[in-house]
Amino acid sequence: MRRTLFEDVHEDFRASFRTFLTREVIGEEGRYGEWERAGIVPREVFALAGRGGFLGMAVPERHGGAGAEDFRFNLVIGEETQLAGVGSFGLGITLHNDICLPYFLSYCAEPQRERWLGGIASGELITALAMTEPGIGSDLAAMTTRARRDGDHYVVDGAKTFITNGINADLVILAVKTDPSERHRGISLLVVERGMEGFEHGRNLDKLGQHAQDTAELSFTDVHVPVENLLGEEGQGFRYLVSNLPQERLSIAASAVSACEAALGWTLDYVRERQAFGQPIGSFQHSRFTLAQIRSETDIARAYIDRCALELSAGELTPEDAATAKWWCTELQGRVVDRCLQLHGGYGYMLDYPIARAYADARVTRIYGGANEIMLEIVGRSLGL
Ligand SMILES: Cc1cc2nc3c(=O)[nH]c(=O)nc-3n(C[C@H](O)[C@H](O)[C@H](O)COP(=O)(O)OP(=O)(O)OC[C@H]3O[C@@H](n4cnc5c(N)ncnc54)[C@H](O)[C@@H]3O)c2cc1C
Repeated sequence: MRRTLFEDVHEDFRASFRTFLTREVIGEEGRYGEWERAGIVPREVFALAGRGGFLGMAVPERHGGAGAEDFRFNLVIGEETQLAGVGSFGLGITLHNDICLPYFLSYCAEPQRERWLGGIASGELITALAMTEPGIGSDLAAMTTRARRDGDHYVVDGAKTFITNGINADLVILAVKTDPSERHRGISLLVVERGMEGFEHGRNLDKLGQHAQDTAELSFTDVHVPVENLLGEEGQGFRYLVSNLPQERLSIAASAVSACEAALGWTLDYVRERQAFGQPIGSFQHSRFTLAQIRSETDIARAYIDRCALELSAGELTPEDAATAKWWCTELQGRVVDRCLQLHGGYGYMLDYPIARAYADARVTRIYGGANEIMLEIVGRSLGL
């Protein structure tokens, strides 16, 4: 079906982002493969993306951005990185643009905007969001990272884990307990900056997939964070986290649908070429039916996601609809990449083939951004259950 979500301006943006991907990410020398082996995207690539206009599009022009508060530009980046098979590069960028930036735009006071927004748009300041701790993930209100007020500073102690962009990050939006006697109402958000004494970027974690993405442990020992680095109001952190979740979940869901489209494209190419029993494997009825199902399910998911994008633009995307998008589309992604890998036979298991990487990369989307069981809880509660 013809998509009606995008206008010419988004298609122009898509074309220039594709050029950027071909030139700076895929590269004739197979740069992306090097980053996957190294477990990290070099920092200078963020600066190149910033220069190309692919970071912080929503940052106002006076702070060095494009002033384009239009999530469709973000969606283009998620789509194109998946279609190019460089999803683990895309994750760092979408985390920066779709997930972290809204906190800075919504909750920074003017002096904070002056300090940070320019660097976020240029790629000189890479961002991360640190909520998960070694002992808690889904149950955020039970977090133990503590920030104790001491004059004009907070003194922070604790540890976070699984933090996307964790090694590269210059600005970490850190969820802390400012009032440990409270659950949700005791949470605040502090911006912790690279180089603050007692703040350590720990291990770059060895993962099943998403290999070019640095996912790290962070530790905080007696870190003196100035009060000027508090985002918004003390005790409102959980409310801020919740209000940004629909966009975060739509971002994950939209990339999941693009990952299905990419997998379908690679598989169609493969089954047309590969022969068995004297015929292309795509011509077996089982292959045709499998691919027909994938195509149908993906198209239906795409229509829902495009609709969610319009709802988000109108400020009307509900937590339930975003949770539905996230769980449904990531489960679909899991099924699709698995079936597409099967159609590649043994080659599908070889990391030279993009479907193998896509298979490994896909597993985590059912876990992060809120595990899918939590998504079902949100949808279930909306039914009054
Ligand atoms: C690659 C990667 C990147 C990540 N990036 C970030 C990041 O940038 N920032 C960040 O803060 N975190 C990040 N995370 C953490 C991620 O958000 C958490 O892993 C996720 O929220 C789940 O938390 P957990 O791992 O502690 O699992 P747990 O909360 O321990 O859950 C384990 C299992 O129990 C289930 N479960 C828990 N509670 C319930 C319930 N009430 N009902 C039913 N089932 C339940 C879960 O669904 C899950 O299946 C990342 C994780 C990974 C793997």
